[in-house]
Amino acid sequence: MKLLKLQLYTKVLIGLLVGVLFGVLANQWGFSAFVFSYIKPIGSAFIKLISMVVVPLVFVSLLVGTASLNDIRKLGRIGAKTVAYYLCTTIIAISIGLFLANTLKPGEGLSQEKRTQLRESVSEKEGAQIETALKKPTVTDILLNIIPTNPVKAFVEGKMLQIIFLALMAGICLSLIPTERSRPVINFFEGINELIIKMVHIIMKLAPYGVFALISGVVADFGLGILLVLLKYSLVVIAGLILQVTIVYSSAIKIFSKQKIGTFFRGIRPAQLIAFSSASSSATLPVTMECTEKLGVPGQIASFALPLGATINMDGTALYQGVSAVFIAQFYGMGLTVPQQLTIVLTAVLASIGTAGTPMAGVITLAIVLKSIGVPLEGIALIMGVERILDMCRTVVNVTGDASCAVVVASSEGELQKPSR
Ligand code: ASP
Repeated sequence: MKLLKLQLYTKVLIGLLVGVLFGVLANQWGFSAFVFSYIKPIGSAFIKLISMVVVPLVFVSLLVGTASLNDIRKLGRIGAKTVAYYLCTTIIAISIGLFLANTLKPGEGLSQEKRTQLRESVSEKEGAQIETALKKPTVTDILLNIIPTNPVKAFVEGKMLQIIFLALMAGICLSLIPTERSRPVINFFEGINELIIKMVHIIMKLAPYGVFALISGVVADFGLGILLVLLKYSLVVIAGLILQVTIVYSSAIKIFSKQKIGTFFRGIRPAQLIAFSSASSSATLPVTMECTEKLGVPGQIASFALPLGATINMDGTALYQGVSAVFIAQFYGMGLTVPQQLTIVLTAVLASIGTAGTPMAGVITLAIVLKSIGVPLEGIALIMGVERILDMCRTVVNVTGDASCAVVVASSEGELQKPSR
């Protein structure tokens, strides 16, 4: 009876722990194939279910939010604060990564045996993805790309920035036409918004099982051996991520908002767990929105800041790219000069903005950072063994960063409500 009353967070946590245990057993006792065939698909189904609502949720909630704002200047102010917050936290994240990697030097002093162990090649698929990442369009192209020529195509391809643009424009225009005309349209979208939120609630009931299945698949897959070889590098990344969360976000919440740090972190735990097990900030978006709204962020701000954050704000990814670039350079015995380190800051900001909120996207755009400082791209092969686990950790930070922004911006607008239970 008690079990039924457990909070969703606790249930998801139990799912996660049982999943880890089950995965370890599968790995040790040789029933990984069973996990891949029968358990992992349950996790994939869960991720597909939440991904299914992302595009309509972003469009509808942003449209309704903007249409009811009735104030374009306020929208511009919220936009500017959000983007400024995202940029600052990303630059701080890379700086933490660079500082740790330069002082702890995870890539130096590896034994010959370990070096050989690491030199397994990047798979063909990843190689091709890296090639595409390097052919990235110019900044003008990226900006022009925000405007969709065909809205339907933007929806079909899930182009988040285009969808955000369309929703903002539609919302603003709705607020500019006479109320008797706009009201039915807004009512319609408000109804759809309720529908989607209901769907998210129902899907979240499956979260404990989904998380269990996802994690057991991951743990059954990666052996512990490679983790040990890359232990120092992984620990440096994880230490950096922990600093970003405990120092940067906590200070931001403390200094720029009225929310208690404890309340904030307790409130976003469900989103962090989903981010950890899915390694995708996009798929986590519906949960992040739900958590921040419970924390008292008004829908108007959450539905603007969070989809934008899930698309362009990747602090964990940027930090990881900083550490990885230095690690790979150290591995090849290349010392990095100060201008090269500054190039890392600049390119990692851009690469993390260009990183999609999907699994493994960050390791692909790492190629851009490596190329800019002339470090061999083959170096990416060295860190592939621990990619999945680090992806899971950095996604937690990406999502936490987005949520902290929503709380800070809402507070600065004097609109942060009391958290609801
Ligand atoms: N998986 C990350 C995310 O969705 C992106 C990355 O690969 O760094 O936030």
